[in-house]
Amino acid sequence: MLDCKRCAALMRSRSRVVTGAGAIPATVAFVGLAPGRLGGDRTGIPFSGDRSGELLRRMISATNLRGVFITNVVRCNPRDAGGRNRDPSAREIANCRGHLQAELALASPSMVVGLGRIAWRELAGRGVLFTPRESAPIRVGGQRLFPMYHPAYVIRGAYSERAYADDFDRLAQLLHTATSD
Ligand code: URA
Repeated sequence: MLDCKRCAALMRSRSRVVTGAGAIPATVAFVGLAPGRLGGDRTGIPFSGDRSGELLRRMISATNLRGVFITNVVRCNPRDAGGRNRDPSAREIANCRGHLQAELALASPSMVVGLGRIAWRELAGRGVLFTPRESAPIRVGGQRLFPMYHPAYVIRGAYSERAYADDFDRLAQLLHTATSD
């Protein structure tokens, strides 16, 4: 993965390839979008060094989640012509699919959390609605999936931090049930 050359644009924009990090085997895996310019692209660790990472990790600590693995749909920082973060293209997501599936196979979590609509679509498939307010896990291809908002959505003020904390509590309860049966 570290030497991946599948995406010409990402080879130019990335400072490094940012692989998933955390517990192996894992209890829960969080899947975000792509390493941020100020975050993973600098630190080499997904969701670290930027505001999204700070919020996600604060929520994980507050709910005392253990066995956490954190990764992204794509492993390289996508930038637009102005050097700002952009969403990865459908081709870039497809190119990175094998890397994501290899990481999830290795981490083998009881639950995979899709952070935001794009990650959710990648995990659950196009036809499955993104409904984080209902917070119900689904099973797809042997994986238990749970939809949550991306922390950047909360930082933008589109969803309250209080409600986000409640979603993390619900996730912790579901994990407790899943790992104690
Ligand atoms: N940092 C990440 O690693 N992924 C995101 O989706 C956002 C910030």
